[in-house]
Amino acid sequence: MTRRPGRHFLQIPGPTNVPDRVLRAIDRPTIDHRGPEFAQLGKHVLEGLRTIFKTSGRVIIFPSSGTGAWEAALVNTLSPADKVLMYETGHFATLWQTMAKRLGLDVEFLPGDWRHGVDPAQIEARLAADRDHAIKAVAVVHNETSTGVTSRIPEIRKAIDSVRHPALFFVDTISSLGSMEYQHDAWGVDVTVAGSQKGLMLPPGLGFNAVSERALAASKTNRMKRSYWDWDDMLKSNPAGFFPYTPATNLLYGLREAIAMLHEEGLENVFARHRRHGAATRAAVEAWGLEVLALDPREYSASLTAVLFTKNYDADHFRDLTLERYDLSLGTGLGKLKGKIFRIGHLGDLNDLMLMGTLAGVEMGLHAAGVPYRPGGVQAAMGVLTQPVVTSRLGKSEVVPVS
Ligand code: PLP
Repeated sequence: MTRRPGRHFLQIPGPTNVPDRVLRAIDRPTIDHRGPEFAQLGKHVLEGLRTIFKTSGRVIIFPSSGTGAWEAALVNTLSPADKVLMYETGHFATLWQTMAKRLGLDVEFLPGDWRHGVDPAQIEARLAADRDHAIKAVAVVHNETSTGVTSRIPEIRKAIDSVRHPALFFVDTISSLGSMEYQHDAWGVDVTVAGSQKGLMLPPGLGFNAVSERALAASKTNRMKRSYWDWDDMLKSNPAGFFPYTPATNLLYGLREAIAMLHEEGLENVFARHRRHGAATRAAVEAWGLEVLALDPREYSASLTAVLFTKNYDADHFRDLTLERYDLSLGTGLGKLKGKIFRIGHLGDLNDLMLMGTLAGVEMGLHAAGVPYRPGGVQAAMGVLTQPVVTSRLGKSEVVPVS
């Protein structure tokens, strides 16, 4: 392969760019995972994660991808043939329900159009009709990475509460944690599922479950079989800073650094930065005359934007060209959206100029691929990013429109 000068632009919606600080933190000798130095590291990251999930409860770290953390949530809380209510927001919600079925759960999958998030009213209606409480869990994806649509978790919680339904509530935050507001405790979530490779700015390889007291209680009596994914083994070892089997030590060094970086910037500022980048990206898409896949502005994702491609043009051909010519990786369309959309990841360790470079790459790619578009997307995004940012008393920085 010929040498490509400069940095590759990894603008898929995860894995995201790993900052140099995290790479340097990982680049250290692996230590004895049963020794005193490791115990310090273990305790530090387990405690630090609570501040990211916003929980005073337990967070469990698996050496796994996010898919493993999905499985752990199900097998630690449910019993064979239990009814689970899920909602078809897109490809990842579909994969999670497929997993639940394979594990022998009885899934009811409310159909969706892949352009909207979970409809809290539908959840409420379904739970209201479930008078004998056959449904044991409601499981949803917070930010559907295949569509760029963010569901309104507090409203779904409210829907569950309004009919006083006792179902457990599981939320996948794989592409939202560390990029947008999320509160495990305050939002009444029983199991939050997450992964290392997106908002947490780490390489792939860690999966997380934040667990409520109710979920822990369920894990004491549920009947699904598990071994590797058993929370109990973790919960016994973790207080001393250890793990029941060999942990991903070097990723934990990176996690310690990433948590420090998120707090140095301030979580509110991190979330505001993601919202600004989402707004700038959507301004570009609109100016190009293309369509944002998400239809409801309340559900626009702050971590990625899915762009519906012009009919008769293959979005993957365009993506191939941006990679070949500009060394820019954009996200492919998944499942039934294959070839119809491309996705711009704007999450993780990203600044204004990295976003502008990305959008310039997209605009040049549209030109190179001969796609009908209007020039000016980059300019429109710049218009958003050059608006003044104010930092409020609460440390929240936000774009204020110029009057
Ligand atoms: N859920 C969501 C929302 C995702 O975006 C992904 C991966 O991109 C997954 C689940 C699956 O995670 P993993 O690929 O780490 O197993």
